[in-house]
Amino acid sequence: MQALSTEIKYICWNCGRVFEPEHLGIMKSIRCPYCNARIIVKARTSVVRIIKAL
Ligand SMILES: [Zn+2]
Repeated sequence: MQALSTEIKYICWNCGRVFEPEHLGIMKSIRCPYCNARIIVKARTSVVRIIKAL
């Protein structure tokens, strides 16, 4: 079985586009590749929490 890898993506606060951190590999500073905005929000897209109800 494979464990689910938490996929962290970034959402631009300015244009609202979602991009992966792979696109930021070259740049040291986190910027939106579309509008070069610096305000980026981290978002975990595939985090699934299973809560067992007692
Ligand atoms: Zn942007």
